[in-house]
Amino acid sequence: STQWHLVRRPHGEPVDADFSLVEAELGAPAPGQVLVRNTFLSVDPYMRGRMNDAKSYVAPFELGQPMTGDAVGVVEAVEGDVADATGRSVQVGDTVLHPYGWRTRALVEGRHARVVDTSLASPSAYLGVMGMTGRTAYAGLLRTAELREGDRVFVSAAAGAVGSLVGQIARLKGASLVVGSAGGPEKVRWAVDEAGFDRVVDYKAQPIAQGLREAAPDGIDVYFDNVGGDHLEAAISSLRPQGRVAMCGAISAYNATEPAPGPRNLFQAIGKRLTLRGFLVNDHEDLRPEFEREMAAWLADGRIAWRETAVEGIESAVEGFRSLLSGGNTGKMVVRL
Ligand code: NDP
Repeated sequence: STQWHLVRRPHGEPVDADFSLVEAELGAPAPGQVLVRNTFLSVDPYMRGRMNDAKSYVAPFELGQPMTGDAVGVVEAVEGDVADATGRSVQVGDTVLHPYGWRTRALVEGRHARVVDTSLASPSAYLGVMGMTGRTAYAGLLRTAELREGDRVFVSAAAGAVGSLVGQIARLKGASLVVGSAGGPEKVRWAVDEAGFDRVVDYKAQPIAQGLREAAPDGIDVYFDNVGGDHLEAAISSLRPQGRVAMCGAISAYNATEPAPGPRNLFQAIGKRLTLRGFLVNDHEDLRPEFEREMAAWLADGRIAWRETAVEGIESAVEGFRSLLSGGNTGKMVVRL
């Protein structure tokens, strides 16, 4: 197996010398294990946090060890009777989702794998629209932000994996206005023309606060925050009384070397009686069956547009990750092996 190790903790933006590509012998699967040849690896913004040696909701990557993350692949060998996380029997040739990414092949405990249905969606979709980022959009919007019919919704990183789905789920669930923000005209065009946003602000072309005021002149009821920083401050100004914020991510701060200042207008939360609520997708495992049922139906009916940006080959995984943090992706960023 060819695998990426973290060898040094990045300071600010990760650089090549923080990582090393290593060859490792895997051997044969032990009883209960399967050998998987990975076909797609996920790179995700939260992985930047795991590269720091800081207490957080997921343990830091260990130096000199292979990094982990979601991957899908094809089962090449099975030792004994192996059941996946749902109790389903795993066979050679099955496509499985599992947490041993950042490498070409992996030995995976059956209970850590999930056989996925490639007739419903392509294998890589289980890293995105049908996978963790899809569940994040669904849980964060419907449960954390408590979306209601008629809500005016704003989501940042609207051309990204989570954000593009938030906007579309909001529309399908009866939002009256769906506004997004994205960096650059190509992303804005895709989010409006393909993903059906009413308006998308190019935050690189004008200050987000001004753009949001123009895009949602009557204000917003819900903000789904992927970015933090200036975007959160703009949203607080545009939120209407009793507005709700699902705090999903703060990507504008992930490479920061100093703590970022908070929104200067946070006091508005008092007068407007705002709710700002953080969430983690893993706390909403109970929503998984409902999400999978609903998303599969939307995909079958052609009601959800989704995209991915792929970099090619294991050697490109670090480059793909860095590109994700700086906006090189439209839709889900994946590594194709
Ligand atoms: P995306 O596909 O949205 O990719 C990240 C995007 O962030 C980039 O494409 C870029 O788009 C945008 N971006 C980067 N820097 C900035 C900046 N300074 N200001 C504004 N936008 C910026 O990634 P995901 O969909 O995987 O993740 C989106 C967010 O959701 C992240 O914050 C992530 O950490 C969070 N998340 C949280 C989870 C949870 O459980 N709470 C689970 C999964 C994800 P652009 O070109 O438009 O700038």
